[in-house]
Amino acid sequence: DPIVQLQNVRKIYTLGTSEIHALNGVNISIEKGDFVTIMGSSGSGKSTLLNMVGCLDTPTSGKVKINGTNITKLDDDRLTAIRRDNIGFIFQQFNLIPTLTAIENVEIPMIFSRITPTLRKKRAMHALEQAQLDPEYASHRPNELSGGQQQRVAIARALANEPPILLADEPTGNLDSKTGKSIMELLVRLNEEGTTLIVVTHDHKLTEYSNKTIVLMDGEVSDDIY
Ligand code: ADP
Ligand code: ADP
Repeated sequence: DPIVQLQNVRKIYTLGTSEIHALNGVNISIEKGDFVTIMGSSGSGKSTLLNMVGCLDTPTSGKVKINGTNITKLDDDRLTAIRRDNIGFIFQQFNLIPTLTAIENVEIPMIFSRITPTLRKKRAMHALEQAQLDPEYASHRPNELSGGQQQRVAIARALANEPPILLADEPTGNLDSKTGKSIMELLVRLNEEGTTLIVVTHDHKLTEYSNKTIVLMDGEVSDDIY
């Protein structure tokens, strides 16, 4: 079975009396181990799609299945549980907490799982290792780190609960091209180790790293191939 499956997914936002059709019948199948890039111009529905796959929102109609579970009609608590077990998020702006050190940022997702602080630290160090951050930076705060190092911390945080699926929204958007390349190479390595990777981007160059590209146009999957 696909690890992510969308069947005829529609999402309509209602603003006062007007309706915005953000997704218009989207069908997508992503297999375990895939590296998928999602492209499309601003307003084409990429964030909406990512919110569905990330279990942050549910469709107006159609079906979304994540790792065998149909999330379409789940309440917020069940949705949160599926998200915690399956999804790691990586953002363009890193979204680290500035007052916490690198390792403390990585520990955050584990605070909600029932593990001891000692084990939590150990797992956070392991995740920072996986994200190839030099251990000497573990006690640094975000503003003492370069952009690339901050993104490595954010990737470690996404890996903390060992999710089968990583979702990244413009992960290199705030980085110079050399640093961006090193972050993409890290994501490739994580994918080779078995994580299913879904990257939303405007950047055509990132499609070179993926084995599948989905192009959205006005809320529909386009047949155009980049
Ligand atoms: P993209 O990420 O490709 O820029 P979005 O998914 O953010 O596209 O947006 C698709 C369409 O849905 C746009 O017209 C956008 O303005 C609208 N939209 C997105 N989120 C909301 C929301 N929460 N409420 C109302 N309209 C939204
Ligand atoms: P991106 O840079 O990924 O295209 P956007 O700027 O389109 O992201 O959207 C950022 C967030 O704001 C998303 O979560 C999206 O759902 C929400 N959003 C986008 N358009 C609207 C809108 N018209 N009304 C309310 N929320 C929106």
